[in-house]
Amino acid sequence: MKVGIVGAGMVGSAAGFAIALQGIATQMVFVDQNADLARAQAQDVAHAVPFASSTVVEAGGYADLAGAGVVILAAGVNQAPGETRLDLLARNAAVFRAVLAQVQPVAPDALLLIATNPVDIMTHVAQELSGLPPERVIGSGTILDTARFRSLLGQHLGISPRSVHAYVLGEHGDSEVLAWSNARAGSVPLLSFAAQIGAPITGHLRDQIDDGVRNAAYTIIAGKGATWHGIGAGLARIVEAIARDQAAVLSVSMRTSEVLGVADATLSLPRIVGASGIQGTLMPDLTEDEARALRASAQLLAETAAALSL
Ligand code: ADP
Repeated sequence: MKVGIVGAGMVGSAAGFAIALQGIATQMVFVDQNADLARAQAQDVAHAVPFASSTVVEAGGYADLAGAGVVILAAGVNQAPGETRLDLLARNAAVFRAVLAQVQPVAPDALLLIATNPVDIMTHVAQELSGLPPERVIGSGTILDTARFRSLLGQHLGISPRSVHAYVLGEHGDSEVLAWSNARAGSVPLLSFAAQIGAPITGHLRDQIDDGVRNAAYTIIAGKGATWHGIGAGLARIVEAIARDQAAVLSVSMRTSEVLGVADATLSLPRIVGASGIQGTLMPDLTEDEARALRASAQLLAETAAALSL
């Protein structure tokens, strides 16, 4: 499958690198308003290919996205000093309007995979502006938060994060919800597994893990200015599910007509991802507190999206 990446900054290039290393795409095209940057990123990623796969990696213009199965949107602008979050959103919506006007005529059949933050709102914007069915506009959402959650639980339990089944739901951001009550290690409920191996999940540990997941980005940004490897790998995972039609259950964002009584919220739930996009959504069993927190997250996202004039 051919993959287009619009926005060849840190996140776009990290996604391209992860996709190329895993040989998920046959062809990859970087597009950026900074054509020199797109060319440089394409060359750098292309030089990794001989060690790993046979993906053809190029930079190009929008016309070169023709035939892409997925176009990743990682383009955006950064917050200016004194700018409000809504002003920033309006500027990033303008970027998406300009980008989509060029992408859609050449790649009308491509799925859109949104990476630009705030990713849930930008996924709403991309769906609204593109007019595509919601299931064809996928936001990376909490895929990375879910990975962080599994990683910390795996560390505590001494097992691979791949054997931990636990999800972060709602917003990719401060209001996200760690779904503790239905987390499992293998097929065993988390608390039971933890007790069996003598590593109980105490209130303190829960707080530590919650904090570690919720504030991971802040910690990384403090140390290196931005985050890109984790999200790059998460985007590659979503592209893999699409390219290989895996029907994989991933926590990703999609505009959703109703969530726990909240209308029109774009947020993450466990969703089935395959060649046609999002093929289904699962609503986990939640405790009352978790459901209340998820409803609040949905409400916040619905209100923020509604406040945007597109
Ligand atoms: P991140 O860390 O999220 O990847 P960057 O600033 O590194 O952020 O990357 C964002 C990229 O988006 C930049 O390379 C920038 O040139 C690109 N970009 C911004 N606006 C547009 C646009 N209208 N069209 C194409 N690319 C754009």
